[in-house]
Formats: sequence, structure tokens, C-alpha cells
Amino acid sequence: MNKSQPKLSLRLKISLMVSLWVATFGVVIILVIQNLVTANLIASKTETIDSILSEQTHETARRLDDAKGSADVVAEIPEIGEYLELKDPKFQDEKVLKILKEFGLGRSYESLYIINTNGIAMTSTDPSFVKNDFSFRKYVINALAGNSYSEMAIGSVSNKLGFYFSTPVKNRIVGVVAVKLDPAVVFNDLVLSKVRDYGHLFFVNSDGVIVSATKPEFLYKSLDQLNSDTLAEIAVEKRYPNENVTPLDYSKALQVVIGGNDNSKVFFVNDKIDMEQELIALRKVGNYRYYLMSESNQTDVLAAVKTISLVIMGIIAGALFLGVIIQLLFLRFAFAPLRKLVDYAGKVSSGAINEAIEINTGDELQSLSESIQDMVLNIKGLYKGLEEQVTVKTAELSGALAIMEVKNGEMDNSKKAMLNVMEDLNDEKEKIAAEKNRIETILSSIGDGVFVTDEQGRLVMVNQAVEKMSGFTNTEMYGKNYAEIFKFVNEDSSNSEYPNFVNEVIVNGNVLSLLPHTVLISKNGNSTPVLDSAAPLRTAEGKVFGCVVVVRDNTKERELERSKDDFLSVASHQLRTPLGSMRWSLEMLLNGDAGELNAEATEIAKQIYDGNLRMIGLVNDLLDVSRIDQGKVMDNPTVVDLGETIDKIIMEIEPLTMAKNVQISSTIDKKVPKLNIDLQRFREVMTNLISNAVKYNKIGGLVTVDLAGDEANIVITISDNGIGIPKNDLVRLGSKFFRAKNAIHSESEGTGLGLYVARKFVEGWGGKLIIESEVEVGSKMTVRLPVEIKSKIKE
Ligand code: ADP
Repeated sequence: MNKSQPKLSLRLKISLMVSLWVATFGVVIILVIQNLVTANLIASKTETIDSILSEQTHETARRLDDAKGSADVVAEIPEIGEYLELKDPKFQDEKVLKILKEFGLGRSYESLYIINTNGIAMTSTDPSFVKNDFSFRKYVINALAGNSYSEMAIGSVSNKLGFYFSTPVKNRIVGVVAVKLDPAVVFNDLVLSKVRDYGHLFFVNSDGVIVSATKPEFLYKSLDQLNSDTLAEIAVEKRYPNENVTPLDYSKALQVVIGGNDNSKVFFVNDKIDMEQELIALRKVGNYRYYLMSESNQTDVLAAVKTISLVIMGIIAGALFLGVIIQLLFLRFAFAPLRKLVDYAGKVSSGAINEAIEINTGDELQSLSESIQDMVLNIKGLYKGLEEQVTVKTAELSGALAIMEVKNGEMDNSKKAMLNVMEDLNDEKEKIAAEKNRIETILSSIGDGVFVTDEQGRLVMVNQAVEKMSGFTNTEMYGKNYAEIFKFVNEDSSNSEYPNFVNEVIVNGNVLSLLPHTVLISKNGNSTPVLDSAAPLRTAEGKVFGCVVVVRDNTKERELERSKDDFLSVASHQLRTPLGSMRWSLEMLLNGDAGELNAEATEIAKQIYDGNLRMIGLVNDLLDVSRIDQGKVMDNPTVVDLGETIDKIIMEIEPLTMAKNVQISSTIDKKVPKLNIDLQRFREVMTNLISNAVKYNKIGGLVTVDLAGDEANIVITISDNGIGIPKNDLVRLGSKFFRAKNAIHSESEGTGLGLYVARKFVEGWGGKLIIESEVEVGSKMTVRLPVEIKSKIKE
């Protein structure tokens, strides 16, 4: 048996599975850890940014609170109130200026100034402010309305950005104390702040406009598109006179600023300018509506995260790799005994059943190896027995094989023989078909009707002439019993049943002729006089297997016969009277009524008389025949003792028997009843048959006449040992004027009418005349008569 080499060893499969599992697990762990670390690091970064921002906003708020506080304190100074309550206060009042300057000392305000209720700057540490109208500024409007206020704006005089703080003086408001703080003081500190380590820092005012930025291109940009009210306000107040405030894309940040949100906010925005994710942190400056905003690039923030992630991933990947290697080594170690087992099994399967194996792993492999060894031991035992059995079976098989080969050879020969036989059969079949064709052609060309039947009388072949005569087609006839198709009837007695002559031929194996005066009734009722003969078909062994019948249209012959009969009838009637008177005259002559004749004349007259008698006999026979043929035979029955009549006849023909020296013996059964029969005709029949037996006998021959009978039939047998009748002539015997050749030869005198008349009379009485004969052996004529004789009685 072919052993299949493993495409993937078990070890490799387990290794692959474990490696796959480790790799998947490793990737998942790496991803989870990386995400955790990243989230953690981002959280800690944002926390740092937020805390720094918180520190910065506190510092800024403190500075702003200081400026605001200054305005509040100055507003409380009584001199300031008094100054403003003066009816006509002086610009740059020295006393007031002194107070202002002293208060501003050490505080880096850009300007500390007093505004009257009309919004006009009355006294200022910055002289350029004096006399200027600030009534349109929000901080002035609000302070005059009684509220301290602070705003960021670009100064209308200095044209520089500044923080403005205002406080109303006294409760009934006599003016406003204002402080302008230079933002650079605030911003410079911010620029140095640590936030820059992570990106840029912006100071956003309450409008949402960046008023200080470590990124110069962001200066005076709004965080997002400002609403129209704010924009209108900015325009009216000329807050950013020479600047074009265009929007950035930090809508989330703008919402925080507009909403005045107190809490710190940290979030990511997508910067559409540099297409980078930015980390934005926002924190409100004290109670002011200003915000410090930091912007850090995500990549920068995550740079550190990335490094740390990579390191962690490296460590994990290394650990996994190490794990895989260890596992592979372990598998190699663990699978070594299995390999050994496989090798052992391979050797055993290739026949080395004496090999041994030792595995001492103490696990299932050891048990398996022991079991396999046990199995091999068992197989060894079996194998031995098997070998012996195989030897015996092989011997048996080769014996059987040898027999089979012989049988095969025989079968081959039989096959060849059968093929030959089949070939021969085919040839024969073809020959038979050709023969059949030939026969059919011959049959169809025969003018007489021919039909062939099988053993059962069924039609198997017919020719065209038969089709014509019978009126049936070939297909109508085929397979039918001939008697169903061919209605043969006797012309004289059409009602009597016609003998089944085909059956007779098949049973007896004789050639038969149809009865004389037979007619064939066709399909449409036409009748044709026919003559025919039926002969048996025999196999080579002589067994009868069918019958062939030849039917001849006998119409013309029958007409000829009829005219002959007519002629004979007329002639015999015409001859009867002169022959009678000739006989009468000759008898007178011989009796000497006309005078004594001399011896010579007497002899001549006697010869004439004998000839006259023969002629009268012939004419009587002819008249009988004529009457018979015309159906004019009338019986004159009387009670007749047959035995007596026969004996009388034997005596009457004594001159004939003596001339031939023939012995006649008769055996008359006295119990035979007397018959009611026409005596004259019975005598005629018997005379003819007995005289024939004498006539056609040898000199010194023997004739026996038997009369026997029972209650139904009477049988008269006339036997002789004379010349007999040739077989071929037997058929026609009994026809009118027929004489056998040998009879003519031995007995020139004769008419061939006696037998015909006898047969007709016997048949007329309902009896039968049977002729049996063999040439040179003798003849036997049997007359069978019924006890009840049929008779045509004279009317
Ligand atoms: P005929 O005797 O005048 O010839 P029949 O009619 O008596 O005519 O007989 C017809 C023929 O039958 C005879 O010619 C003869 O050939 C044959 N025949 C009749 N009887 C015998 C017989 N006993 N032996 C041999 N032939 C016979």
C-alpha cells in the first residue's frame, strides 16, 4: 500500500496555529495598550497645558485686577470728586495731576485720567489724552451709567491697543476715573510662558478677536465669522481702526468666548489652513471676558506618545517572538517521540515487523507506542498463519486458473464454432429467402391455382391464380384454415359436406384428387368448376409437414364433357331401337324363321348377333351413364336377397370363368338382411365387378366374393389375384371411359363405363365403392351399402 507523505506535519500545524494565535493576540494587546497609553499621555499633556494656562490666566487676571483696583481707589479720593464738582474745572489740574502721578508710580499704566460727565478727558498722566472726547467709548458710557467697566480696544489717540478700566466717581456720578494699561506688559510675560513649548498662545478678547498672538499671522483675526451685530459695534467704536478682522475656523472656541464660559476647555479642531489636527485649550481670565487660548499641533503632542508606544510595542513584539520560539522548541522536543513512532510505524508497514521501539516519555505517546508494539506482535502471529493460508489459497487459485484457462480455450472454440454456425445459418437463411422468392415467383407464374397449407391446414402460401379464383386477397387468406376460404362443393349434391381432403392427405400422406364435378364457390358467390389434386409435403425424413393443392379451372373441359354427354345420350337413344330390331331379326334368322341357314351362314349370323348384343350392352351402358349424368336415374326397389343374387350372377358368368379357367368362391353370410333395392341395378353392379375380377385375371386365377354385414352396413368384397391397377391410374379409375393401360393390353374389349356406372349407383344408394389394387398382385373392390338404401323412386 502506498503511504501518503504528510503535506503538513502535525507539529507544523500546531506551530502555525499557536503562532497565528500569538500574533493575533499580540496585535490586539498592542492595539489596546497603544490606545490606553495614547489616551493617557494625551490626557496628561492636556492637563499640563491646562494647568499652565490656568497659572497664566491667574497672573493676567491679577494684573488686570490691579489696574481696575487703581481706578476704584482713585475714584474714592475726595479731591477727585471735588475737582469734578467744580463749576469750571481746569484741564490738567495740578493738584489732581499730582495725585494721579503719585498713584501711578510703580504701576506701569500707560495713562491714568479723569473724564467729566461729557466724556471729555480733563486731567491725564498722558497729556495727549486731555480735552479729547471719549464719550463714544463703551468704558465711558458704562461708567457714566454707574458701572465699573473694562474693555480692550485700540486707543483713538494713541492708536495702540490697551486695556481700559473705568469707575464712576461718587454715587451721583460727577465723572469717571479711567486707567489704560499697556497690554504689552501683560503679553510679554505670556510670551515667555511654558505653554509655548507645546505651541502658540493667544489672548482673545470678548469680541472673539485675537489681540495678542505668538503666531503673528493670527493677530486681529476673529476665531470664526463674527455675527453682524458685533461687526457693526466694532465698526462704530472703531475698535480695530486699521486692522482687517478676518475669521479663522475655530467656531468651537468662538462659542466658548461668546458664551463667557468660566470653565477651562480643551478640544481638538481641524485646522483648515495647515490641514492638521490642533489641540486647543481655552481658559477665562479672572472675571473678565478675556480668554487665554493655546494651540498645540497634535503631531507635536503625540510625538512623545508615539515614541513611548513604539517602545512598548517593540517590547511586546519581542516578548511574543520569544514566546513563539520557545513554543517551537518545545513542540520540537514534544514531537520527537511522535516522529520516532511514525518512523517505526512506517518500517512495520513496509514489512519490518521485527523492529522495536522505545519511548519513555511517561505520557500517552509511551502508552501508544506500547499498544502499537502489542499490535505488531499480534499481527506477527496472524501474519504467520496468513502466509500459510496464502500459500494454500495460491495453489488452489493457480489450479482454478489453469482450469479456467482450459475452459476459456474451450469457450473460445465454442464461440468460433457458434459464429461459424451462425454464419452458415445466415447463408442458409439467405438461401431459404432466395428459394422462397423463387418458389413464390414460380407459383405466381403458374396458371393453375396453387395453395400450400401447414400441418393444421392453415394457408401459408397462395398464388395469384388462387386469389383470382377465390376472390380473397393474399393477406385475407394467410394463416386461415383453407376450408374457411375455399368452399368446395359437389356439383351434384351441393348441400352435402365436402370431405376435408387436405386433412386426409396430411393424415394418410397420400396424393388425393378432388371428387369429380367439384365446384369452387368464390367470395362473391360465383362458382367455378374445378379439378385439383392435393399432395403431402414431406421433410427429408418423410414426415408430413403440410399439403400443396393445385386447383385447375375446369370450366372448358366440363363444357366439352357436357356436349360429349349430350351427343352420347342422343346417339344411344337413336341406336337403341334399330339395334333392338336388329337383334329381333337376327334371332328370327338364327331360329330358322326365314328358312334354314347353312352352317357358314349360321356362323356369320351368330357373329353378327354377338356384335349386336355387345352394341346393345354398350348402348344400355351409355344410356345408364347419360341418365346418371342427367340425374334421371329412377329406382324400382324390391326386397332383394343379396347372397342369392350374387350366387346367381356367379353362375351366369360361368362361360366367362370357364374361358379363363378362373375359380370363383363366395362366402355368403346368411344373417345379412334382405335389402329394399333396385334388383336390376344391383345385378348390374355385381355383374360388372365380378366379371371385371375374372376379365382382368390371369388364366387359372382366383376370385373370392364375400358378403357380410351388421345392423347398419352391408359389405360386399370382390377380390382377385389378377393384373391389378397401376398406382397412377387408381385416381382416375371410375371416371367415364377410363381404362388402365394394362387392362387395354390384356383385354382389348371394354368401354370403361362399368365401374363408373357401378360407383354412381352405389353412391346413389348412400353407399361407397372402394377400390384397392396392386399391379400383378390383385385387386379388391369393396361395396359398402347402408341397410336403409336411399332410392330415387319412380313417380
Ligand atoms: P371395362 O371393363 O369395360 O374396361 P370397367 O368400367 O368395368 O370397364 O372397368 C374399367 C377399368 O378398370 C378396366 O378397363 C380396368 O382397367 C380396370 N379394372 C376394373 N376391374 C379390374 C380388376 N378386377 N382388375 C384389374 N383391373 C380392373
